[in-house]
Amino acid sequence: MADKRDYYEVLGVDKNADDAAIKKAYRQLAKKYHPDTNPGNAEAEAKFKEASEAYAILSDAEKRRQYDQFGHAAFQGGGGPGAGGFDFSDMGDIFGDIFGDFFGGGRRSSSNNGPRKGANIRVGVRITFEEACFGTEKEIEVTLKEDCTTCKGTGAKEGSSPVTCSKCGGKGQVVYTQQSLFGMVRNVQTCPECNGKGKIIKDKCPDCRGTGYTSARKKIQVTIPAGIDDGQSIRIGSKGEPGINGGPRGDLLVEVTVMRHPIFQRDGYDLFSTAPISFAQAALGGDVRISTIDGDVLFNIKAGTQTDTRIRLRGKGVPSLRNKNMRGDQYVTLVVQVPEKLNSEQIEALKAFDAAMGGTLEEGKNGDEPEKKEEKGKKKKGLKDLFS
Ligand SMILES: [Zn+2]
Ligand SMILES: [Zn+2]
Repeated sequence: MADKRDYYEVLGVDKNADDAAIKKAYRQLAKKYHPDTNPGNAEAEAKFKEASEAYAILSDAEKRRQYDQFGHAAFQGGGGPGAGGFDFSDMGDIFGDIFGDFFGGGRRSSSNNGPRKGANIRVGVRITFEEACFGTEKEIEVTLKEDCTTCKGTGAKEGSSPVTCSKCGGKGQVVYTQQSLFGMVRNVQTCPECNGKGKIIKDKCPDCRGTGYTSARKKIQVTIPAGIDDGQSIRIGSKGEPGINGGPRGDLLVEVTVMRHPIFQRDGYDLFSTAPISFAQAALGGDVRISTIDGDVLFNIKAGTQTDTRIRLRGKGVPSLRNKNMRGDQYVTLVVQVPEKLNSEQIEALKAFDAAMGGTLEEGKNGDEPEKKEEKGKKKKGLKDLFS
């Protein structure tokens, strides 16, 4: 074995490569040189064997440690039935592991006829923002398989019963050995005859055509808890697909989509919103009306509040899923509104106000000033009193 290549070199990885890198390197090589894709190509076959051997060693922590310490000498003399003194008899696991997902999965051993939980069923439900905040009840419809009442779930016609599968002897799996490049490889497969059930139905129940199930639309009441957020699911136990070979039913997973709200945005249990306030409110302070999910509340702002000031309404956020008495907060950004349309009375009032503040307006350059002259004297008086 003097001319054996270094395993790391074979796989083209660094000596410090981690397991994932080694696996990836081997997968690429194995795919490239696999005999199935290179029939009759002796060189590819040799490369495949070389890479497989390198992977068998380097993917095993203990063997890799020995190899790092002693090199190829670590594995000499233990010659099994394979090639080159290397025992390939334990390659079966590696094939299952490596080839399971790119050579069709046939080599991966799977399923036996023990009880298995049924598959989950997923359904979606759309609720409003408020329903998410406070919880709700929804009725949803799902197609559920129930044990066929005629055959009581056996699938066999009345008077007959399923017989033990002769191919697997009731085990649900078949084991066969295959001559491979490396000697005999043991494979375990789901029995093709009974699909892993271990039983064969000769006379099928006419009502369920031998499946053992009938399907029916069922209405299910779903309690959606307060505080649920968009994308979260509610699990309802035992409303999924029936179990296999006496296993428990799967679950029903109800995935919640929460509609958007025109005013509130949500982040966790906190809410965010903006509220318009008038210039007068901002300047003078006092109670302003704020929308919350509980309805409008009055919030007292201080005189001289600036636009974009953020206030916090404690406990006005969304109830917690765990405890609906615990609630997040609502953060409200106050936006001072600048009026877009003013009548002459308002214009005069603003001018008077401006004058009272020292005067920033330049006479004659302030856009449209309809009906300027007529009402001037009348309105000026009131505001002067107010701001002087
Ligand atoms: Zn039936
Ligand atoms: Zn079978």
